[in-house]
Amino acid sequence: MARVLRVARSSSLFGLGSRFYSTSAEVSHASPFLHGGRASRVLAKDRNVQWVFLGCPGVGKGTYASRLSTLLGVPHIATGDLVREELASSGPLSRQLSEIVNQGKLVSDEIIVNLLSKRLEAGEAKGESGFILDGFPRTMRQAEILGDVTDIDLVVNLKLPEEVLVDKCLGRRTCNQCGKGFNVAHINLKGENGKPAISMDPLLPPPQCMSKLITRADDTEEVVKARLRIYNETSQPLEEYYRSKGKLMEFDLPGGIPESWPRLLEALRLDDYEEKQSVAA
Ligand code: AMP
Repeated sequence: MARVLRVARSSSLFGLGSRFYSTSAEVSHASPFLHGGRASRVLAKDRNVQWVFLGCPGVGKGTYASRLSTLLGVPHIATGDLVREELASSGPLSRQLSEIVNQGKLVSDEIIVNLLSKRLEAGEAKGESGFILDGFPRTMRQAEILGDVTDIDLVVNLKLPEEVLVDKCLGRRTCNQCGKGFNVAHINLKGENGKPAISMDPLLPPPQCMSKLITRADDTEEVVKARLRIYNETSQPLEEYYRSKGKLMEFDLPGGIPESWPRLLEALRLDDYEEKQSVAA
């Protein structure tokens, strides 16, 4: 896929805008893993893992995609991480990107496809296969480009109420030494109008990380709200796009990691796979 994305970024695919939007003419390939919105119980080793995680900023795409990547042995590729690496490199793109990212806006499709294709090329050279994409696609155009170069098996759409998302983003911390992510927010949302209550304990760092915690520059209240607005306008249509292709698995997170992880594995029919892996370990 890296090679084809490279072609996409360099020339023709970007010049063929209208072709990318002619989805009605496309044949809809339903996911071989989804039946009635539930994943089928196919042995994980037989699964062609080419998955996408969708969901608002702060919903936990990175957390769950990274856990699944470890479990299934496929790379977790987060385009937000690629953008942050580029920002930290103080390369030629860095200043241009920091302005966009710090306002909560989306980077251009060309730049993001370029970064992703470089990451995929590096992975291919190391013998990687399969992927769990997190944060890509974010626009219809990106989804069309992706659909042109590869077949996505499954799209997992993680969901949480919007009130929780802002608090989760504001509570996010990363240790600048070990790179692990934590969350200092206490979430306690009462159940109302038929919606269930949601409570999440903070995920606190161990003492050795405590003095090394950093907050993402784009995790301020103003920028988080802008990112949520942009998600609703630009990225939410992707849900319908993948739903119409029979590839979307909706997953309402019931709470924090202890409650959500086993339920997600169950929904993905990976619960027995995890048990076998831990017995074998
Ligand atoms: P994230 O960590 O996924 O929240 O991404 C951080 C920032 O990187 C976003 O707010 C965007 O500015 C940029 N970004 C990440 N992925 C994409 C994408 N697929 N398309 C455009 N911009 C992106």
